[in-house]
Amino acid sequence: MSGAPLALYNSLTRSTELFAPIDPASVRIYSCGPTVYNYAHIGNLRAYVFTDTLSRVLRWKGYPLTHIINITDVGHLTSDADAGDDKMEAAARARSQDIWDIAAYYTRAFKQNLRDLNVDPPTRWSVATDHVAEMIAFGERIAGKHCYLLDSGLYFDISTVPDYGRLAGARDDAREGRIDTVEGKRHPQDFAIWRTSLPGERRQMEWDSPWGRGAPGWHLECSVMSEKYLGSPFDIHTGGIDHREIHHPNEIAQNQAYCGSADTGAKVWMHNNFLVERAGKMSKSTGDFRTLQTLIDAGVHPLAYRLMCLQAHYRSELEFSDENLAAALTRLKRLAITVAQLRERSGPSTAGVAKGYRERLDAAVSDDLNTPRALPVLDALLADKRITPADRLAALADFDAVLGLGLATIQRTDLRVRPKTAMLDEAAVAALMADRRDARAARDFARADAVRDELAQAGIEVMDGDPLGWDWKV
Ligand code: AMP
Ligand code: ZN
Repeated sequence: MSGAPLALYNSLTRSTELFAPIDPASVRIYSCGPTVYNYAHIGNLRAYVFTDTLSRVLRWKGYPLTHIINITDVGHLTSDADAGDDKMEAAARARSQDIWDIAAYYTRAFKQNLRDLNVDPPTRWSVATDHVAEMIAFGERIAGKHCYLLDSGLYFDISTVPDYGRLAGARDDAREGRIDTVEGKRHPQDFAIWRTSLPGERRQMEWDSPWGRGAPGWHLECSVMSEKYLGSPFDIHTGGIDHREIHHPNEIAQNQAYCGSADTGAKVWMHNNFLVERAGKMSKSTGDFRTLQTLIDAGVHPLAYRLMCLQAHYRSELEFSDENLAAALTRLKRLAITVAQLRERSGPSTAGVAKGYRERLDAAVSDDLNTPRALPVLDALLADKRITPADRLAALADFDAVLGLGLATIQRTDLRVRPKTAMLDEAAVAALMADRRDARAARDFARADAVRDELAQAGIEVMDGDPLGWDWKV
């Protein structure tokens, strides 16, 4: 709409394409949401910082959006193909808890994570179990031509649609090796539309269907909910890069069966790369992972994690380490201090002189959301002494709209998150720091040292002359 033409990488064509909305009055986006049997790990959250960047860029460029994120509360098995246990059922059994309570609890926790990260909520949250009737109707429409029935459920025959797996690229043995076989499947990549409960098997979540009592297959929900709320075709479908291999090819196959054409549903398929640790990919199912709350508990402001994500391009793998996170926190503090200083010196605005920075920001993010290129433009803007502080602050609004760091409003003190293990609260530290200042002013160095020791006992280090202007840290 306004500014530079927007180019986005489409996993389907494996090329960067100029974005052309189907209907400029409402750009329609669907993002695969979390499976709510546990907390989201910080890798999962990278996926939503990415979708948020996409949404923010589109809105900033003048496109109204309709954005759907689903909540997967049924059907996602421990393998993305058809083997293993339902992740939700397994969690409920292991903890002897009601599955609906588990879903509600982790859905709330997820939404809190997004608020902490300044991720704007979608137009609609769409919950899988609210759409089981529609899933059954969808299954009935495609069953005759595209599916076959086994004892374990209704399966989709991938040879009935054109070009199955185009999104995943060339089929290779390694990929097929990951697909566990179900007795009677015609092709290894055939997948469940409906999973019929076996005799004697009881699930907490079960529904009646033409294929027996059971539960929907995981891939079905996204085809059904995207078609219901966005229609077909719609503009953009997002997810993590793992979805390019199985989940999204299966969604495409279902969409083609439903529409009776080669249409893939979404025109553009976008995938964020993984957040990894040196030990490998972060995995929710092993239970041993970092959540946003573990970072906050360690004294790191959540927006430092957002900034860390923005420092990498979404299609690059990003390695998480405490050092990288600490560096992002330092960068965020520097930005907050610079903005605070500008605010103190802010005078009249002359308007328009910072336009060049807006254009550079636009050029960076219009180039397939290149946020790592946008951040140095922000640094340059804040440091540009040819522009009045008021004009720099005015231009900052554009960067906040796109990057979501909230720099115009964040206070330096907001960034000092109190670690869970801290023994003193902020006010107590401030009081001791004031004591120490008084003692030093009175040249009572013994007393000043005693206060420093008291703080050290509580795990707080006094930093005289810290270049960032922080006078203590934990
Ligand atoms: P899940 O809750 O497992 O269904 O995943 C939610 C989203 O996180 C999906 O879009 C996944 O593709 C994505 N995802 C999973 N692991 C990672 C990771 N380590 N880094 C980035 N995205 C991930
Ligand atoms: Zn999905």
